[in-house]
Amino acid sequence: MSRKFWVGGNWKMNGDKKGIEEIANFLKAGPLDPNVEVVVGVPAIYLEYTKNLLPPNVVVAAQNCYKVSKGAFTGEISPAMLSDIGVKWVILGHSERRHIFGETDELIAEKVAHAQESRLNVVACIGEKLEEREGGETEEVVFSQIKGIAEVVVDWTRIVIAYEPVWAIGTGQTATPQQAQEVHGILRDWLRKHVSDKVANDIRIVYGGSVTGANCVELSKEPDIDGFLVGGASLKPEFVQIINAKQ
Ligand code: PGA
Repeated sequence: MSRKFWVGGNWKMNGDKKGIEEIANFLKAGPLDPNVEVVVGVPAIYLEYTKNLLPPNVVVAAQNCYKVSKGAFTGEISPAMLSDIGVKWVILGHSERRHIFGETDELIAEKVAHAQESRLNVVACIGEKLEEREGGETEEVVFSQIKGIAEVVVDWTRIVIAYEPVWAIGTGQTATPQQAQEVHGILRDWLRKHVSDKVANDIRIVYGGSVTGANCVELSKEPDIDGFLVGGASLKPEFVQIINAKQ
């Protein structure tokens, strides 16, 4: 059982041509641990530009896409369009899509299903809100979110699960390694029970929420944390440190 460590950056709605060039430069300078898969989530308008600047060991991801391949859906982009320009990854179900843009579990499942049909690799994000954690509902919330996703997945080799507690995203309040491990562990057990041993053993479950150069090493030591999805710190040179957390 060896899961390749996976580290994603999520630039969100940040970056311009000059800033992206700077990020590409620190990623080129690295050096990056060759045993880590590195993906950066880029605003759609910069996907091709970024792809051409990045070193070959770092690939781009879209931060969203729609649930069908084409049609009258103003403002949306499809998995087919991503594939057409050589993009192989998409982030779906991010907490900001859920809570700012009102995406439901149902819509996210439809998007995951279509991205899977289109053979894109998906980073599927789940995580509880602060009041849900405080109300003792974390398990119920993340199980219902993972169930919605698991029901539509056909190719488990093309999916990474990102556990991102909403209260930890962009707040500086990282989950402790124990808090994160506890949820990663129950998610893996859920997959073992409801999908298969093989999927539970092979899938990467990555943690997101205020990951920094300072806390990544401790988090990376937990047995069920297989990498990170990094927002703010992925725009800074310390992202290299996070990629190299296991070294
Ligand atoms: P953060 O964001 O690292 O800035 O907390 C994580 C995310 O939203 O994926």
